[in-house]
Amino acid sequence: MYEAFLKHEKMETVSHFAAAVSHELRNPLQSIKGFVQLMKEYEYSREKQIEFHQTILREIDAAEELIEDYLVYAKPTYGQLEPIIVASEVSHVLKIMVPYANGKDVEMHTDELDESAEILIDRYKFQQALVNIIRNGIEAMPEGGKLVLTVKSSPTKVWIRVTDTGVGMTKEQVRRLGEPYFSSKLKGTGLGMMVTYSIISQMEGQILVDSEKGKGTEFTLEFANLATTKSK
Ligand code: ADP
Ligand code: MG
Repeated sequence: MYEAFLKHEKMETVSHFAAAVSHELRNPLQSIKGFVQLMKEYEYSREKQIEFHQTILREIDAAEELIEDYLVYAKPTYGQLEPIIVASEVSHVLKIMVPYANGKDVEMHTDELDESAEILIDRYKFQQALVNIIRNGIEAMPEGGKLVLTVKSSPTKVWIRVTDTGVGMTKEQVRRLGEPYFSSKLKGTGLGMMVTYSIISQMEGQILVDSEKGKGTEFTLEFANLATTKSK
């Protein structure tokens, strides 16, 4: 059986977070700078040049990863909460992620999409949180697999669910989600989930995680249902 975990706020302050990201970006940038300088100083062999070239590309990849996880979060639009129809936002994010999923042999689709569900959120931050969860889901299926998105609601709540058929997590891994720099990936930043937890708790939502090692993972975002609150 899957075990449900409910997470409350698990986040660093925004300023600490920004400092951490710029610190992390400095490492690959300094390394790139070092190699570029080195290449100017001496006529290296072709093999050596290729080796430097590969290192530089790897460091650029690392910097790119960091920026991806941090992308929207860094925008100075913080705090722009507005009523949003969840289904259209979810469909939009799905569209953004299609090329990434295709590249990894992942079939992605929506299942149930409650068109009436409405929540009070910062649209762009919500997108970032969802992108980070979907990205992790896709990355959890190195041999390909299925990623399903659903939107459901009750009179008081809205649930956005992302299910993957990937590697899954142990209880310990689930417990550590959102911890800065916790990553099981070779090129992971361990910042994506930290950003996601931070965003969702800012918008008074909650993240539920069901996961089973070797089977897959289900992330559920839970928010108050604005549509019914309004009609009362
Ligand atoms: P990163 O993706 O850079 O590793 P994240 O903060 O986005 O960092 O995720 C942290 C870790 O949480 C991942 O490295 C992975 O071990 C685990 N994780 C997150 N989502 C999933 C998932 N859908 N399936 C399996 N593991 C996951
Ligand atoms: Mg990630």
